[in-house]
Amino acid sequence: MTDRRVGVPASPGVAVGPAHLVERRPLAVSCRPLAAGDAAVEAEVERLRGAVARGREQIERARDRVRGGGHPAELARMMEAHLQLLEDDALERAAERTVREERVNAEWAVRRVAESIRAALEASGDEFFRERRGDVLSAAERILRNLVGLQPDPAGDLPPRAVVVAHELSPVDMSHLVHAAVAAVVTETGSRTSHTAILARALGLPAVVGVPDLVGCVAEGTLVAVDGASGEVVVAPPSAEVPLFRERGRRLAELQRALRDEGERPAETRDGRRITLLANIEFPDEVEAALRGGAEGIGLYRTEFLYVGRPRPPSEEEQLRAYEKVVSRMAPRPVSLRTFDLGGDKFVTRPQLAGELNPALGLRALRLGLRERDLFRTQIRAMLRAAAAGDAGVMFPMVCGVGDFRDALEVVAEAREGLRRDGLACPGEVPIGCMIEVPSAVVVADLLARHAAFFSIGTNDLVQYALAIDRANERVAQLYQPFHPAVLRLVRQAVRAGREAGLPVSMCGAMAEDPLAIPLLVGLEIDRISVSPSSVPLAKAVVRSIRFEDVRRLAGEALEAGTAEEVGRLFCDHARRAYPDLVRERLD
Ligand code: PEP
Ligand code: MG
Repeated sequence: MTDRRVGVPASPGVAVGPAHLVERRPLAVSCRPLAAGDAAVEAEVERLRGAVARGREQIERARDRVRGGGHPAELARMMEAHLQLLEDDALERAAERTVREERVNAEWAVRRVAESIRAALEASGDEFFRERRGDVLSAAERILRNLVGLQPDPAGDLPPRAVVVAHELSPVDMSHLVHAAVAAVVTETGSRTSHTAILARALGLPAVVGVPDLVGCVAEGTLVAVDGASGEVVVAPPSAEVPLFRERGRRLAELQRALRDEGERPAETRDGRRITLLANIEFPDEVEAALRGGAEGIGLYRTEFLYVGRPRPPSEEEQLRAYEKVVSRMAPRPVSLRTFDLGGDKFVTRPQLAGELNPALGLRALRLGLRERDLFRTQIRAMLRAAAAGDAGVMFPMVCGVGDFRDALEVVAEAREGLRRDGLACPGEVPIGCMIEVPSAVVVADLLARHAAFFSIGTNDLVQYALAIDRANERVAQLYQPFHPAVLRLVRQAVRAGREAGLPVSMCGAMAEDPLAIPLLVGLEIDRISVSPSSVPLAKAVVRSIRFEDVRRLAGEALEAGTAEEVGRLFCDHARRAYPDLVRERLD
């Protein structure tokens, strides 16, 4: 029977394909005492060794498939990190000892050992090690699945052009999917700004997230239609609808192609206001897509992907290579390197393991950097050195006010001093910017402007903190409203404070890539917007379709509106008049 759902649109594109279910919930394991005698123990140890060996082969194969071939290099590196966990045989040896000494089944031994490693990491007090808990558990889960004969990889036995349906997908799961020519992804958890969504957009994969209780309602192989722009998911669509979905997909792809051909043209409104279009990237290899899309620089390089899924943080030299690659390839265009935003919803793939009751308000981003000073200084040294390769700035996420921004500037000064002592070159001036994504930073934006070289408004977090709506919680996703008048007023205040101090102000949150919101932002006098590489051509086309004077007047009306719905209607009506062909799917 047809089942229609609307989730959170996470990555545009339309696809129809057979469902492939990815079950990521931990397996239930029970304790089974072994039969008497040595033979039973030896047989169990053999079973364990076989499962670990198969795990290694599976990851090696997956890594080889994502190596090269246009896939971001980080994906292969994430796999290497998982491989290391299985190659460093601490888990295997400890599980083998448990089987021998306690005469229990391999499954029980693996689960027990993984739990005790996780508890030790948890207690280590070192934030980086704490982040590895999820990796250890997923390595153990792979061994367990091999032991009981279940497919451990989401991409294993994938039907062609499948729609992957999962409770949640980790970055490593996503890397499995890249090579598999998956048609689309649907998850029960997540929001437009969670890492699954960000990665799906980076990979150009249609995705809808935040569709609760879906996994239990879809049988493997059932046809599923997905529209990543509207958030529509139809399980077992009536046969008459299937060609309509396919047609919609074709139309979108055609529009994308036509817009890409226009990508080099600047984004200027019909009455001559120039808007700079920048790209957000997560992987260095994405600079090519950014350039192809016509991006005039990188407005946000999310460097946290360099840290994820590995036993040790990246060295200064490894980071230097990644940042230099981006800065030199983009030169002379500007690049904003953002220091790591770890913690919060990022890369804690199992929220219950976060170890913090409220991770979004916990030790994340700049706070974590200021706590883990050495880790932070190493990153800043690499960024300052990479700035020599072109035009780069450094920016800090989650600044709350002048105090933490000044503390961060102190670490920059220490890093500079260290580089000088070590005889390593970096430019005399590297602009240091401030992300405006916490309401307190907006309130004191005029004070921050005295210390910062530029502002970049991050609406993904600003909306979360201003409206008290968890950005990654699908249960409140409908209340996550970038058009909320309070958000608009915060944006306007930040823009004004930056402008009055003569600072460049850009916006790099997902709001900036919503074709209905772009006129509003232009009307609020933002003149730099940063969007995912694949969204640059559409954003440019929207800008070229509007008049600054019209959208400034509309933004004024929006600031006086009572609700997000009223603002939404204003800009839907405007889109209908000014650029209906670019947003047909959103207006239908
Ligand atoms: C934001 O919060 O808007 C932002 C761009 O940063 P991130 O999505 O990485 O938190
Ligand atoms: Mg943010």
